Order: sequence, then structure tokens, then C-alpha cells
Amino acid sequence: MEATIEVTGLRKRFGQARALDGMTFTVAPGQVTGFVGPNGAGKSTTMRVILGLDAPDEGTALVNGKPYRRLRQPLSQLGALLDAAALQPSRSARNHLLWLAHSQGLSAGRVDEVIGLTGLAAVAKRKAGGYSLGMRQRLGIAAALLGDPPVLMMDEPFNGMDPEGIAWMRTFLRDLAAQGRAVLVSSHLMSELQDTADHLVVAGRGKVIADRSVADLIAAASGERVQLRTTARA
Ligand code: ADP
Ligand code: MG
Repeated sequence: MEATIEVTGLRKRFGQARALDGMTFTVAPGQVTGFVGPNGAGKSTTMRVILGLDAPDEGTALVNGKPYRRLRQPLSQLGALLDAAALQPSRSARNHLLWLAHSQGLSAGRVDEVIGLTGLAAVAKRKAGGYSLGMRQRLGIAAALLGDPPVLMMDEPFNGMDPEGIAWMRTFLRDLAAQGRAVLVSSHLMSELQDTADHLVVAGRGKVIADRSVADLIAAASGERVQLRTTARA
């Protein structure tokens, strides 16, 4: 179950646009690592590269020393896997999960487990077309958890969640990390992650501009001044 994600020197261009420009950081097991930065900083591209959904021009993204796709676990997906486009509005959440489970050789029992874990039990038999964005996020997370992956990457999971959903998500992320997973969560809002993450990686223009533990940041803030290191964490 324990896993470490190592992102080293990722570079990627889309035409003239430089999406990644030397992105480098580590996600430790048993921790929630918050991946913060403004829109366009390269967070989603980094996550897609880690999952093997996009190829970098340069650099590596390894999970326990291997490309994620070569791990023996089934491919987990971004938290936002079942986005609006991927959802079939007339099928229920349970139906979606059953189909995914079947394609991964998993049992219906596992489907009901992840439905319970993500708080979807009361609505799992409803048509997905009527789901709120918050419920779709939970469904995406349920899908990602099906194969019990050692890492979990969630791209902007707080988007569209109401305060109750956000509170649930925070506790849920902490629990997933406490089980030994390496949890990487992105947000364009520092405020969404500062109370949840153990570690913050701040990205801007395709690279890391600060990388520190939250405990360190708080200690520094209560001292004379906050000094964000630009190098990899000690
Ligand atoms: P973030 O998730 O931090 O908002 P992204 O990784 O989505 O950042 O985007 C980083 C940069 O790469 C942006 O300038 C974006 O427009 C560009 N980009 C991302 N994906 C593509 C794509 N498929 N085609 C063209 N440009 C892209
Ligand atoms: Mg993004």
C-alpha cells in the first residue's frame, strides 16, 4: 500500500505554450500533499503525466520507482474521472461503478464498499444525469478507489462542493493518507488545502516555486518571517 511519487524535471510544451518547465517534487506516503497554484500553473498536466495519460517532453514521474502504469494495481484515475462528458445521464452511479469494476475484474461487493466510503449509498441508484457537481466528484473518487490504489491524485476535488461536502472531503483525504497512501490534491486556492495538507507544493508557470511542510510554514510564520524555499524539501 505504501507508495512514493517522484516527479523530476518534467517539461512539456503544447505548441508554443510551455505547460511544464522543470516541475520537480516528491509526494510522501501517509501524507496529504497539497498542489497549489494559479490556473495555468501546470497542475493538471503534471497529474496527467504521473498517471501516464500524457507523455512529458523531458523528465520522469515515478511511483515507487516505476511509471504508474507498470504497477500491478489497476490504473486509478484522476478524481475528476467521471466528469460530465464521461457520465451517461440515464445510468445510475452504481451502474457506472459496476461497469468499471467489471472491466477491472473486481466484484460487485467492492462497488458497494466504495459507494459506502464515499457517502453515495442514498443516491447510488439514481440517474447520474441529476447529480450535482459535488456528487459527481464523489462518484469520481469512488471510481478511483475501486482498485484500492496506493496513490490517489485528485484534481481540484473541492470544485462544486458545498461546505458539508468540503468538510467531508477534508476528513476523507486525511483518512486515505492515514492508511499509507500518497495523496496528491490540487487546488487553485491555498485556503482549501492549508488545513488539510501535511505538505504544500506551490507551482507557478510550470515549476515549483515553494515546497514546505505545513508545520514548517506555521513555525516560520510565528517566527520573524516566512521564507519560502525554492529548492526541494530537506
Ligand atoms: P493548471 O491545472 O495548473 O490550471 P494546466 O496543467 O491545465 O494548469 O495547464 C498548464 C498550461 O498548459 C496552460 O497554459 C494550459 O493552457 C496549457 N495546456 C494544458 N493542456 C493543454 C492541451 N491539451 N493543449 C494545449 N495547451 C494545454
Ligand atoms: Mg487544472
